[in-house]
Amino acid sequence: MLIGHYGPAFIIKAIDKKVPLWALFIAVQVPDIIWGTLILGGVERANINNDLTSNPLDLSYMPYSHGMVSTLLYSLVIVGILLLFPYFRRHRDVAWWLGAAIFSHWILDFLSHRPDLPIWGDSMKIGLGLWNYPVWAVAVEVAIYLIGAICYSIAVGGFKRWAAWLFWCFIVVSTIGSSFRGDGMTPAGVESIAISALVFYIFATVVIYIVEKNERKP
Ligand SMILES: [Zn+2]
Repeated sequence: MLIGHYGPAFIIKAIDKKVPLWALFIAVQVPDIIWGTLILGGVERANINNDLTSNPLDLSYMPYSHGMVSTLLYSLVIVGILLLFPYFRRHRDVAWWLGAAIFSHWILDFLSHRPDLPIWGDSMKIGLGLWNYPVWAVAVEVAIYLIGAICYSIAVGGFKRWAAWLFWCFIVVSTIGSSFRGDGMTPAGVESIAISALVFYIFATVVIYIVEKNERKP
């Protein structure tokens, strides 16, 4: 799952407008940011298998980035670090929302991944396998993303004119781009997938930062 992870980010922002959306955009992708970095560093491993539906990645070894316990630990450690700062001690809910956003990544991956998510270390791998049903996988991911984007847009009362264009163009282009991943695609390699994912996360965060600065109700 790629854009679907942004659904919870939008929903959290719609519920509590104190939480910066750009920070939520980073938080919901923390496990994948760690995954991309560890793949490039040769610590975690994956292979391309074009027989797999929805996502050609055979995620054979990712105990650090996508373990259930390790993801929970990232959430709690980051909440703990944030609570060292006076701002977050005054607004503890903002720190906890960011922690929840990090763990939401694992929950949505649990829904979509084949059983490749270890609970602890490299063992007890689970995953409900929505990816085995390519049409449903795209439909569910796009629905989570679009429902989130619409809730966010309503909650902040829309955007100043050009920012509305930027926001909805980004939503439409990322939805189309994401829906055509997977089947029929022959990726150059695991490293290039990791690099393009990391570049996309940076790009999405920059776009959302600009959009957020131009909400009608700041
Ligand atoms: Zn992931």
